[in-house]
Amino acid sequence: MLSPEELSRYSRNILLNEVKRAGQEKLKNSVVTVIGAGGLGSPALLYLGAAGVGSIRIIDSDILDTTNLQRQIIFKHSDIGRFKSEASSENLRSLNPYIRVEGIQARLTTENAKELLKGSDLVLEGSDNFDTKFLTNDICVEERIPFITAGVLRFEGMVMGVRPGMDACFRCVYENPPPPEHVPSCADAGVIGSMAGMIGTIQVTESIQFLLNDSERDSGLFGRILQVDSRSMEFRTISAVRRKDCIVCGALH
Ligand SMILES: [Zn+2]
Repeated sequence: MLSPEELSRYSRNILLNEVKRAGQEKLKNSVVTVIGAGGLGSPALLYLGAAGVGSIRIIDSDILDTTNLQRQIIFKHSDIGRFKSEASSENLRSLNPYIRVEGIQARLTTENAKELLKGSDLVLEGSDNFDTKFLTNDICVEERIPFITAGVLRFEGMVMGVRPGMDACFRCVYENPPPPEHVPSCADAGVIGSMAGMIGTIQVTESIQFLLNDSERDSGLFGRILQVDSRSMEFRTISAVRRKDCIVCGALH
């Protein structure tokens, strides 16, 4: 049930025919886990929280440093030196006291991933490394948790949604993590801060529509990959094709 304060706070959502009061209650009852409170996670978390997604978990092991503030907009200058999981959950609670936010100071590993992702209606993956992206894929597919993964570097970004058993998974497309020496990170190669914001915001916009259970909708980013190049401002969406011989999802129905 939504309180009068919540009805007022979310009125611009509720006005939409695709949301209404029932959709807002659905958001309130949703559990979303965000992996990485970084450049992608920051806008994703802010909009998930502002939209009234009722339970939000934040998984991050890092401590905030000065170089993060150029794009990680959930943090304040005074948060430097704090654990990102703690500072981001505190800042999100101060944006919206009507939601539950849990900060988990951990790095996703093969040992803890199943436990940390369990019970999520949706996972948003916005880490800065391929090992975490592949691990998120493998565990979410195994546990049949839908997820939206995204990446950003320099002036470019990508977003892909996966409903395990329905859509191609990350491994159907990329098979194995590239050797680390072949993959520049934002720390080596740089990134436009607002580019991370743009991709994280696309990720969260897709998430909210997914949580509203707009199952008739067949044009979003599930089963598809969006590639954005901000130098040319070209947005390209391509279909992700399931592979029968995929070692992770090949046998799933
Ligand atoms: Zn697959």
